Amino acid sequence: MTITSFHPPKRTLMGPGPSDVHPRITEALARPTIGHLDPEFIRMMDELKSLIQYAFKTSNRLTLPISAPGSAGMEACFANLIEEGDKVIVCINGVFGGRMKENVIRMGGTAITVDSHWGRAVDPKAVEETLNAHPDAKALAFVHAETSTGARSDAKTLCQLARKHNCLTIVDTVTSLAGSELEIDGWGVDAVYSGSQKCLSCVPGLSPISFSEAAVEKIQARKTPVRSWFLDMNLVMGYWFQDGRGNGKRTYHHTAPVNQLYALHEALCLLQEEGLDNSWQRHQLHHQALVAGLAAMGLEMLVPEEERLAQLNAVVIPEGVDDLAVRQQLLAEYNLEIGAGLGAFAGKVWRIGLMGYAANQTNVLNCLSALESALLRQGHRFTPGEAVKAAISVYQ
Ligand SMILES: *Cc1c(COP(=O)(O)O)cnc(C)c1O
Repeated sequence: MTITSFHPPKRTLMGPGPSDVHPRITEALARPTIGHLDPEFIRMMDELKSLIQYAFKTSNRLTLPISAPGSAGMEACFANLIEEGDKVIVCINGVFGGRMKENVIRMGGTAITVDSHWGRAVDPKAVEETLNAHPDAKALAFVHAETSTGARSDAKTLCQLARKHNCLTIVDTVTSLAGSELEIDGWGVDAVYSGSQKCLSCVPGLSPISFSEAAVEKIQARKTPVRSWFLDMNLVMGYWFQDGRGNGKRTYHHTAPVNQLYALHEALCLLQEEGLDNSWQRHQLHHQALVAGLAAMGLEMLVPEEERLAQLNAVVIPEGVDDLAVRQQLLAEYNLEIGAGLGAFAGKVWRIGLMGYAANQTNVLNCLSALESALLRQGHRFTPGEAVKAAISVYQ
């Protein structure tokens, strides 16, 4: 059999990522590939750094995209900041906090965990107690937007606590960037990583990161080399900065994913055109319409209102409804992808993403009517038609 070109179906992506990619971004991907040390490419890289600074609200010099997905951004932060024996306080309120802990251990550090209820924000009181109990801790790590549960933690307060205890902060903003209020400098975040495929609506595979001056000092004062060659910021800087180890000239580190970086540049241009505040507000509006519609179907949200993320909606699957059958029907009949529950919530919740380009009125209304039809088939009792009506009343 001859294998021919792969043509994926056209889906609407309303899961935990990747999200729908804006057509201007797919167009950017198809532009001619040029050399990764071409002067025109280097000019684009400089623009990219300042666009990422805009999105993160930071003036950190060491701000760039890692040539790998969000998980690599996570690893870059821990690999560079943690040395053998360093004590790190890790907040766990979902799957991704658990991965942070794993990173600390693999870098030779000691992880002290603060466990909060899954589906809730990280508890600042418990964090403060742990900081008090471990005055020798070097860093505090937490996930701003827990994609596994849809909970948003109070990053500003957690960073203030860390600062009071002389701890650096490592913050996961993979799902929050461009979808929820986020201020790297204003809140005093020291190391932050994100992803391209969530609220930036870019293709997967890139991770914008940024390090504060204090974090850079810690990296430069390391007694031992960074354990990962690929993610060692001392080396990566030689490619991304004129005055890195490259002595005035950019030097080859790895071949940058040239076309993917065009796509990220385009995604960030779109964000700048819309404006950060407008983007946060847009996510909030469509979230409110979606939740109103879900409530009209008698569905409950997992997370209390004041801790909910707009861009990731965890919905409790009603008793007697077949999780997989519903998701399969949405995919087969509506080309609509929503997310399954992760970890402890497998089979218990659906995760409906409203990320980036996918956060729009058409998607919200289509998702609600598709869910209505799937739930009717499942025998769930509610008044058909009310969900879309409730959502429309939010838009009016
Ligand atoms: C998606 C996600 C990641 C991992 O990003 P990948 O691009 O899948 O590697 C990390 N943290 C959070 C909170 C995420 O939502």
